[in-house]
Amino acid sequence: MQFFPSTCFTYKDNQLHCEEVSITDIVRQTGTPTYIYSKKYFETAYKEFDDAFHEIPHKIFYAAKSNFNLSVIKTFLQLGSGVDVNSEGELYRALKAGAKPGNLILTSVGKTKNEIKLGLEHDVLMIKAESEEEIYLINEIAASMNKVARVAIRVNPDVDAKTHPYISTGLSENKFGVDRETALRIFRMQNELKNIKFTGIDMHIGSQITSISPFVEAVEKLANLFFILKKEGIELKHFDIGGGIGIQYKDEKTFSIKEYAAAILPILKSLNCEIIFEPGRYLTANAGILVTEVLYTKKNQNKNFVVVDAAMTDLLRPSIYGAYHHIQPIKVDATKEKITADVVGPVCESGDFLAKKRNIQKSEHGDLLAIMSAGAYGMVMASNYNARRRPAEILVDGNKISVIRGRETFDHLLFDEQEALK
Ligand SMILES: *Cc1c(COP(=O)(O)O)cnc(C)c1O
Repeated sequence: MQFFPSTCFTYKDNQLHCEEVSITDIVRQTGTPTYIYSKKYFETAYKEFDDAFHEIPHKIFYAAKSNFNLSVIKTFLQLGSGVDVNSEGELYRALKAGAKPGNLILTSVGKTKNEIKLGLEHDVLMIKAESEEEIYLINEIAASMNKVARVAIRVNPDVDAKTHPYISTGLSENKFGVDRETALRIFRMQNELKNIKFTGIDMHIGSQITSISPFVEAVEKLANLFFILKKEGIELKHFDIGGGIGIQYKDEKTFSIKEYAAAILPILKSLNCEIIFEPGRYLTANAGILVTEVLYTKKNQNKNFVVVDAAMTDLLRPSIYGAYHHIQPIKVDATKEKITADVVGPVCESGDFLAKKRNIQKSEHGDLLAIMSAGAYGMVMASNYNARRRPAEILVDGNKISVIRGRETFDHLLFDEQEALK
C-alpha cells in the first residue's frame, strides 16, 4: 500500500503517529471526526520558506484563511511571521493571537467600510486595494479619521496559473485586482489622494499552483510596473507576490521552495525593496489530517461504500473542487484485502464524499481512517449543515497533545437563536 509521504505523520508498529503520539491514543480522548496538526511541520515549512529567501529583505505574512485557529496563527507569529487577513473576522483572530500592528496586511476584493476602518484603527502595514472605487473610499475614511492610509494596489497580471478554475485568481476574467492600465492610472493619482500613501504593489494569482512558470511570468509583469512607477517618482516599499504555491496531495509533480526561489530571486533582487510573501496552503496543508471512524460498509450492486463519521461539513474540498485527499488506515494490516470504494459521509447530499473509487485497505465498523493533507482549507470551511457539530482540533508538539478547539456542543448549534413563536 502506498502511504502519503510526510515527515510528521509516520507509522510505528503499523500505527499512524503524529510526531511522537499515536493517533489512536489521541482520538480515544477526543472522539472523531478530529483534526490533528503537527507543530513541527508548521515550523519546518516556515523556516524552509524563510531560509530560501535569506539573500533579500523579505517578510512572510501567513495567509490565515488557510487555517485560522488561534494556536496555528500564534505558531507562525512566534516564528516571526506576519498575518495576511481577509476579513474583519480574520483581523479579530489575528489580534487575539497576538499579532502586532505592522504585522498585518488586509486583503479582500470586497472590503466593507467597517473593515477599512478597523484596518486603519489597528494601523495595519498595508491595505491591499482591489478597485478604483475602493481607493476613493479608503481615502475618505482615512480623512475622517485624520490618518494617512498605507495602501498597495492588487494588480491582476493576467496569467494562467493552470489550477482549478475556482482557485485561479490572476486571469483578467477573475474578479480579483485591477488590470495594469487601471493600476497605473490609480498610482498616478497619488498627489490628489491626500489621505493615501501608496506603499506597495501586490498580486496573488491563485492557489495550488504546481508549476513555477506562471509565477515567473507574473513577477516579471509586476516588476515591469514597479520600474515604470519608480521612473515617475513613485517609490514603493513593498513588492508583494502573494501565495499560491502548490503542495503534494497525490502524485503531483510540485516544485521545491528552493527551486521557486532560484527562479524568481534574480528579478526580486533587482527591485531593491522589501518582498512580501503570503503563503497559506504551503505552510499548513500537509501539517494536518482529519481522523474519522468507519460507521458502516456496504455494497450497492458491485459498488463498495465506506460510510464514515466525517462529512463534507468537516472537509469540503472533495465536494467543491473534486479535490483528492489521500486516505489511509490508522492501523495498517497487511493481511487485509484491498478494495475499491467510495468513502462517504452521513450528510443528505450525493456531493457528500471524501473519496471516489479509491483503492483502500478493507475496513470495518469502528476502524479509524486518516484523511491526509487536511491542514489547509479544512476546518476553516467547516459548516453546521445537517446541524452537525464542527470537529475538534488538536495540536501535537513532540509528545504533547493540546486541544486547540473543542468539539462543538449542542449549545453552539443554538447560539444566539431566539424563539419567535411562543
Ligand atoms: C488565499 C490567499 C493567499 C494564500 O493562498 P495559498 O494558496 O493558500 O498559498 C494569499 N494571498 C491572498 C490574497 C489570498 O487570497
